[in-house]
Amino acid sequence: MAENTKLSTRCVHAGELADAHGSPHTPVYTTTTFAFPSTAAILDVVEGRAVGSLYTRYGMNPTIQALEAKLAALEDAEAAFAFASGMAAETAAFLAHGREGIVCIGDAYGGTLELIGSQLPLLGIPTHLILGSELDRLDGLLAAGARLVFLETPSNPTLELFDIAAIAARAHAHGALLMVDNTFASPVNQQPLALGADLVVHSATKYLGGHSDITAGALMGTKALIEPVWPWRKNLGTTPAPETAALLARSLRTLVVRVQAQNASALLIARAMAAHPKVARVLYPGLEDFPGHDLAGRQMSGFGGMLSLEVADADAGADASLVVDRLRLFAIAPSLGGVESLVTQPVTTTHHGLTPEERTRRGISDAMIRLSVGLEDTQDLIDDLIQALD
Ligand code: PLP
Repeated sequence: MAENTKLSTRCVHAGELADAHGSPHTPVYTTTTFAFPSTAAILDVVEGRAVGSLYTRYGMNPTIQALEAKLAALEDAEAAFAFASGMAAETAAFLAHGREGIVCIGDAYGGTLELIGSQLPLLGIPTHLILGSELDRLDGLLAAGARLVFLETPSNPTLELFDIAAIAARAHAHGALLMVDNTFASPVNQQPLALGADLVVHSATKYLGGHSDITAGALMGTKALIEPVWPWRKNLGTTPAPETAALLARSLRTLVVRVQAQNASALLIARAMAAHPKVARVLYPGLEDFPGHDLAGRQMSGFGGMLSLEVADADAGADASLVVDRLRLFAIAPSLGGVESLVTQPVTTTHHGLTPEERTRRGISDAMIRLSVGLEDTQDLIDDLIQALD
């Protein structure tokens, strides 16, 4: 592929393997192992003198390797690994690079908070969960030895934004790395590596997969940072199946058009919701009065397809549940990023496990509803929300 191509070109062409039959995209090698003509030939691959396919769990399978070249191209990274899920990607990255201590800033996906807050400490890994309002604690924790900073921006479900370049500079000043979960924004709207982050992780289950039919993950960065993750993925056994890798590569070819349409729709929905008398607050980086709007303008090229709103005068969340239950086009489901619009009340799903006090501390009210805007007609979605609110 030609150098310096734009993202949509890379989404279509990067990493594709030409085959003898002229297929325009990489075939699916469902094979678990690959045969060699001689002992010398297999040793060349095992000992790293030759690049080749060997064993699928190792990721040494042409379908998976082709996907990884495309994943790297999405974030303009030197290297990428595909995983069986977003959590698998995070786990391998934390074990490879976070053993001396991890600081997680702000809200993150519930599974990430559980992994960092409760499970990694069982292995003796020092971890710290700090809120966005406690960023002044970061330098002290880094000075005390933490070597990996992790954050999501925009975060779930309050869409809080963090300044990637500024936090990367603070991490680097202490010899630490910054890893950004870019799932909510997608590479179409935000390029954390270009802003100074060292590693990017995705739940490819969301926008990268885009059709709610694949569970997968991705990790991107320099070769020097990605290679140490390989033995962890290999021996945790969290490489994706070739069929999943092929489906994900298929989805990535349409990533840019999908996300741009979702951006445009979400902005119109956010504006319509902000004007509705039964909506107390809309959290969306594209709204001029949103606290992170200026930062979004600096570090994002689109505002994304995710927004949250709070139902006015909600009676302990019951009114919000009523609105959710009355929606006809938005399906009640805890995921995001697919072609179908989804709705969730964080208190009932993603943040159900937190105590009410912890939810309040994190600004997650019972009246909050999170929307993942799909590819349905925008006016149909607005009409659906209005009939549910009315
Ligand atoms: N990161 C974010 C922002 C998520 O929303 C999720 C899942 O909802 C994950 C990571 C974990 O991804 P997966 O479900 O693919 O393991």
